[in-house]
Amino acid sequence: MNGNVASVEEEKCILCGMCLDSCPYEAISAEKKKCKITEPGDYSGVWVFAEQQAGKVHPVSFELLGKGRELADKRNSQLTAVLLGYKLDNHHKELIAHGADRVIFCDNVQLQKLHDEYYFNTMDQILQKETPEIFLYGATAFGRSLAPRIAASLQTGLTADCTQLEIDESSGCLYQTRPAFGGNLMATIVCPEHRPQMATVRPGVMKALEADYERTGRCEEVEYMDNRRKSTEIIDEIIEETAETISDASIIVSAGRGIGSQKNMTLVKRLADLLGGQVGVSRPLVDTGWSEYRHQIGQTGAAVAPKLLITCGVSGAIQHLAGISGAKTIIAINNDPEAPIFSIANYKVVGDCVEVLKKLIAEIENKQN
Ligand SMILES: Cc1cc2nc3c(=O)[nH]c(=O)nc-3n(C[C@H](O)[C@H](O)[C@H](O)COP(=O)(O)OP(=O)(O)OC[C@H]3O[C@@H](n4cnc5c(N)ncnc54)[C@H](O)[C@@H]3O)c2cc1C
Repeated sequence: MNGNVASVEEEKCILCGMCLDSCPYEAISAEKKKCKITEPGDYSGVWVFAEQQAGKVHPVSFELLGKGRELADKRNSQLTAVLLGYKLDNHHKELIAHGADRVIFCDNVQLQKLHDEYYFNTMDQILQKETPEIFLYGATAFGRSLAPRIAASLQTGLTADCTQLEIDESSGCLYQTRPAFGGNLMATIVCPEHRPQMATVRPGVMKALEADYERTGRCEEVEYMDNRRKSTEIIDEIIEETAETISDASIIVSAGRGIGSQKNMTLVKRLADLLGGQVGVSRPLVDTGWSEYRHQIGQTGAAVAPKLLITCGVSGAIQHLAGISGAKTIIAINNDPEAPIFSIANYKVVGDCVEVLKKLIAEIENKQN
C-alpha cells in the first residue's frame, strides 16, 4: 500500500481484473478504455499480414493475397501486404507478384523469431497512422497469437478460422463465414461498427493467384519499435525437421470409414505412393486408431489444397468438407450414389472403394512394368 492506494507490480500484473472486486480496501481501480465506434467511411484498403519464417513466406500469405485481391478489386481499393522479419530478401517481389499493390516492411534482427510481443509494437505503430478497412491473418500458431492482440488494441472484432469471405461492394461490410456450434452449422459474422474488420483464415482454404513477376508495386520501410512490456522472452528455439505435411501435398488419397478395415489402409498408402502423394483420412479413422491425427482432414484436422484428391469411402460431412474446399480436382469413390461428397466431386465413382483401389493400383503397376 502507498497511503490509501495499492501499488501494483506492472511486470507481474496480467490485467485479469480480479483484484478490483476482491480488494477489501477498494484501493485498486482501473481506467477502462471506452470502446470506440469507428466511422466505416474513413477506412479503406485491404491488408494482409505476410507471415514468413526461416527465410520463406508462409504459403497462407499468398492464399490471403489471392482473396485480398478479389476483395480490394470489389471495393476499388489497394491491397497491402505487411511483412515483418529479418533478412527478408526478395519476399517483397513475391508478395507483389501474388497480388499486393504495396508492401509495408520492417527488416530487423529482433524480428527473427516469431514472438508476438516483438511484432506487436511495430504493427501497432504502423496502425496508428493507417486505417485499413480489412486486415487478414493466417490462422497459423503465430497469426492466432498476434491477431487478437492487434484487434484488442484497435478495439475491433476478430473472426477466427474463416472458411469463406465475401464483401458487400457498396458498404464494404465483410461477411466472415466460419463453422459454429461444434461445426454443426456455418455462421456468417459481420463487424458493422468497428474497423478494421479482422479475420484469420486457415492455411489451404483460399486460393493463391499464379505469380506474375511483371506486376509492379510500392515498398515502404518502417522502423522497428521496441517499447514492449517484457512478459516473456524466447531463450532458445528448437526447430524440428518435419516431413511434408498433408497441407502442402499436391496429391492426396484419402480414406473414410467406408474403407472398412485398417488392413485396407495399405491399399490407400500404395495408391498414394504410386501417385507420389500423401494419405489423408476422415476423423473416425483417427478416433479408431487406424491412422494418426497428422493425416486428418477437416475442421478439426488439416485444411488441404491438393491438385488432385481421391476420396475412398468418405461421406462428405460438413466438418470434412471444411478442410477440402481448396482441392482443385476431386475424384470421389463411394458405394452410395446419394453420398454428400458427390455434390462437390468433379468425378464420381459409385462402387466399392476397396475394389476400385485394387483395380487402380493394378492398372498403374502394369503401366510401370
Ligand atoms: C465438432 C466436430 C468436428 C469434426 N471434425 C471433423 C474433421 O476434422 N474431419 C472429419 O473427417 N470429420 C470431422 N467430424 C466428424 C464428421 O461429422 C463425420 O462424422 C465424419 O467426417 C464422417 O467420416 P466418414 O465420412 O469417414 O464416415 P461415415 O460418415 O460413416 O461415411 C462412410 C461413407 O463410406 C461409404 N461407404 C461404406 N462402405 C463403402 C465401400 N465399401 N465403398 C465405398 N464407400 C463406402 C458410405 O456410403 C458413407 O458415405 C467432426 C464432427 C464434429 C461434431
